[in-house]
Amino acid sequence: MNQQLPNSFRAGPDEEGRFGLFGGRFVAETLMPLILDLQDAWNTARVDPAFRAELDGLNKHYIGRPSPLYFAERLTEELRQVSESQGLAGGAKIYFKRDELNHTGSHKINNCVGQILLARKMGKTRIIAETGAGQHGVATATVCARFGLPCVVYMGATDVERQAPNVFRMKLLGAEVVPVTAGHGTLKDAMNEALRDWVTNVDSTYYLIGTAAGPHPYPELVREFQSVIGKETREQMLEVEGRLPDMLVAAVGGGSNAIGLFHPFLDDKDVAIVGVEAGGKGLDGEEHCASLTAGSPGVLHGNRTYLLQDGDGQIKEGHSISAGLDYPGIGPEHSWLKDTGRVEYVPIMDTEALAAFQVLTRTEGIIPALEPAHALAEVIKRAPKMDRDQIIVMNLCGRGDKDVHTVAKHLGMEM
Ligand SMILES: *Cc1c(COP(=O)(O)O)cnc(C)c1O
Repeated sequence: MNQQLPNSFRAGPDEEGRFGLFGGRFVAETLMPLILDLQDAWNTARVDPAFRAELDGLNKHYIGRPSPLYFAERLTEELRQVSESQGLAGGAKIYFKRDELNHTGSHKINNCVGQILLARKMGKTRIIAETGAGQHGVATATVCARFGLPCVVYMGATDVERQAPNVFRMKLLGAEVVPVTAGHGTLKDAMNEALRDWVTNVDSTYYLIGTAAGPHPYPELVREFQSVIGKETREQMLEVEGRLPDMLVAAVGGGSNAIGLFHPFLDDKDVAIVGVEAGGKGLDGEEHCASLTAGSPGVLHGNRTYLLQDGDGQIKEGHSISAGLDYPGIGPEHSWLKDTGRVEYVPIMDTEALAAFQVLTRTEGIIPALEPAHALAEVIKRAPKMDRDQIIVMNLCGRGDKDVHTVAKHLGMEM
């Protein structure tokens, strides 16, 4: 299955938005002019010093960047003891890239700030977005409030019920939340509805997509806005350790925080890279969301990528304890990175993530979101087997405030 290896892993996508066999622009005729408009605006903005300066200013003063690169000393020590108990005397040094400290509590705002600047450049006066758990909806509603633009968020009806606090946040921020009853009333259906709105309101509307997926150029531009994570990590690591890390680990839903950390390191052969998918209740049943480990290639939301689908190509509903990881597709660049072998993708189960959530809270005084708790569970498995002079950087991409109800329920505790 390995595709031909490229000279650089950082050069893609090509003109048609393809990463090897993945990506592209599988959209209706009617959407094509909008996509090409967006492509033009993006090509101009990405090399425009004024655009860059405005983005840098918001990153610094609104989001709070750069986020710290933090050495997790107590966790490192604890895993060294685990290593010793296994007779290994190892235990890599663990660093966290602390994107959970961003305004609104996760990496999502990095992308929203970038895209709303693009929308303004294009003269758009109305913003639409899709959301699953509501995190991207909240981040979008936040930047819309900041720039005084009307905001419509499509959200599956099932999710509207499950995620009441985020629905309320979006409303406070001035957004209109539209429940989508089609399909199972979840993220996939909300995304379809947002694409439909976009075609209908061509002139006024900008579709602010929430992850590194969708038709070209979205996977590329979302990656570029999120790459601030990896660029900062590189600089910070060189400053504190004088060298690059041995391994990067990040949780993968649609893949935006992961590609943001990974991309600046893709051509550094000595840096091992691991993406962590939601293994849910196990890959043998239906209740997981491991599109790369257990899915197969197909077309969803305008691009070719790995998906969870049945024999007839019907998209399956994903499951994960963390609502942010249950997108049944994955950004196309990750599909390509999997097939070329540059990045290794592994599943982590709900129970493992729940345990890692508690370990981090106890050892470092940081309550993580359940998504990065998946990445942490993988770090906990790997660090004891690595040498003490090796270094792991994990993207701590969200804080856990939003998840305490879920965790309480799973631990059988009353709030
Ligand atoms: C939304 C979300 C994710 C999953 O999205 P990606 O595009 O894969 O990054 C992961 N972690 C957190 C904290 C999120 O809010």
